[in-house]
Amino acid sequence: MKKLIVGNWKEHFNPGTASAYYHKLNKLVEKASNVTVVLCPPTLDIYALSHELDGAKYKLGAQNLYYENEGPYTGETSAAMLKGMVDYSIIGHSERRHKFGEDNLMIAKKVGAALRNNIKPILCVGETLMDRDEELTSRVIVDQLTVGLHFVAKADLDDMVIAYEPVWAIGTGDFARPDDVAKVAKLIHNTVQELFGDESPEVPILYGGSVEPDNAKAFLDVGYIDGLLVGGASVNAEKFARIIASAST
Ligand code: PEP
Repeated sequence: MKKLIVGNWKEHFNPGTASAYYHKLNKLVEKASNVTVVLCPPTLDIYALSHELDGAKYKLGAQNLYYENEGPYTGETSAAMLKGMVDYSIIGHSERRHKFGEDNLMIAKKVGAALRNNIKPILCVGETLMDRDEELTSRVIVDQLTVGLHFVAKADLDDMVIAYEPVWAIGTGDFARPDDVAKVAKLIHNTVQELFGDESPEVPILYGGSVEPDNAKAFLDVGYIDGLLVGGASVNAEKFARIIASAST
């Protein structure tokens, strides 16, 4: 399977600085046939970047979307509005879950809306530190998948991506041990098979949480891990280019 490297720019860059950053990054990134690179800028930057981006090297993704096509939803941007401009959208990122109160049902609706609008959802799942301490990791992940994939049909699985992002590892420098990532990635794989039946299409599984150039390869070598979701290091052109390079060798 082709490796998938996703950069989540979070709340960084306005349209001008996003364009400047993209050009800086592009000078450092070689085109690789076995890697798909997805850039997820803030919503404000997507339209301009969709005209600038070298489509042979990058795909665009949103960081979030809303499931109602249009209406009285102040501040939201719908999947229908993003249709045609992005190929992917992060959905259910832990910052959306924990700072903006998104629950599994809302996330499930967003996944469904993305699919209806030809946008590949990158559904994020992961346990908090408290969940981990209370040995609830497996239960939390299975719940997040069971509800989060509720509006997904087996035929949609070809367009799904799942990212395992332990909440305690995001932006902390405290990345997960590859052995632990292997266990959760296998759990995700098995849960998808249980929910949709054996012989279901393989859904790419990403690891995210304090990925840096020096640890990227270790995660890419983990069984059932097909790529990385990178936050902080994706807004540093040198670091992100090195992470992409580690997936392309
Ligand atoms: C993320 O934003 O999804 C993420 C994993 O952030 P970081 O790489 O900074 O931990």
